[in-house]
Amino acid sequence: MFKCTHPQSPVERSRCPKTPEQEDSFEFIIVSLTGQTWNFEASTYEERELWVQAIESQIFASLQSCESIKNKSRLGSQSDAMAIQSIRNVRGNSFCVDCDAPNPDWASLNLGAVMCIECSGMHRNLGTHLSRVRSLDLDDWPVELSMVMTAIGNAMANSVWEGCLEGYTKPGSDSTREEKERWIRAKYEQKLFLVGLPQSDVPLGQQLLRAVVEDDLRLVVLLLAHGTKEEVNETYGDGDGRTALHLSCAMANVVITQLLIWYGVDVKSQDARGQTPLSYAKRAGSQECADILVQHGCPNDSSSLSSVPMSNVSLRNPNINNNNAQCELNRSISIM
Ligand SMILES: [Zn+2]
Repeated sequence: MFKCTHPQSPVERSRCPKTPEQEDSFEFIIVSLTGQTWNFEASTYEERELWVQAIESQIFASLQSCESIKNKSRLGSQSDAMAIQSIRNVRGNSFCVDCDAPNPDWASLNLGAVMCIECSGMHRNLGTHLSRVRSLDLDDWPVELSMVMTAIGNAMANSVWEGCLEGYTKPGSDSTREEKERWIRAKYEQKLFLVGLPQSDVPLGQQLLRAVVEDDLRLVVLLLAHGTKEEVNETYGDGDGRTALHLSCAMANVVITQLLIWYGVDVKSQDARGQTPLSYAKRAGSQECADILVQHGCPNDSSSLSSVPMSNVSLRNPNINNNNAQCELNRSISIM
């Protein structure tokens, strides 16, 4: 609250004796919502008016910025709610990926699966190299994370991680904590139930490059589950230098780009022409891929996205299929 008024405090009056003309105006008081008051005095009527205008405009600007922050967070929470609902709708996501407890509220980002709170604690104990735990309700859901979660889901994840149960019995929601923990460690740490590689005569790294080019997400998930850091960083071979990440970025594939980074593909790797995955993402016009790379430490060189000729590139489309990406894709296929 803000008002112009005559002096309020008898103490001030006595401290600053005034003539009747001076007392006539020039003073003003700011009153806070909690009732605190601040008394001010200007030397002229004009000066006081200037102060009043300046303070009023500051109050107005402050109220406006509060309102826009409120709107922004309201929009943010709305889009998060939509993202969370679409994650819940993915096949298999009505039950915990490990113990089948209903309505799971936690997620493992790199596994693309949802789980109950008890299993989420055990996933945390595995370490982030095996499982990156996030709450559906308590955490933010940026677009690239919800894209990974909706692309994979419990049914696909378990078709890979529990593909070879061979007589093992999965724990239920009423199993003991120890039984669940034993299962989770056997599943993700020892990889006891993991489906085998489809082609044992082709090196894993080469299979990964092909799976990325063919946009075969389940195979990418399977290969990453098996692969060592060296294997997933494999390139096309001498004189080429492109990793799976260069290819996923050339194809503007947000989900695979994010997965490859979590599984240790080097974001700074350069191909034979000195190009990083970020150069490929920019050329493909994928702002999402570019953002993910920068977020994970890929150096952002001088050629910004806006400097790329945009005649045949549409920005912010994760399923983009422009000429540049198609060229990279054709080049990749011809090499394979
Ligand atoms: Zn569970």
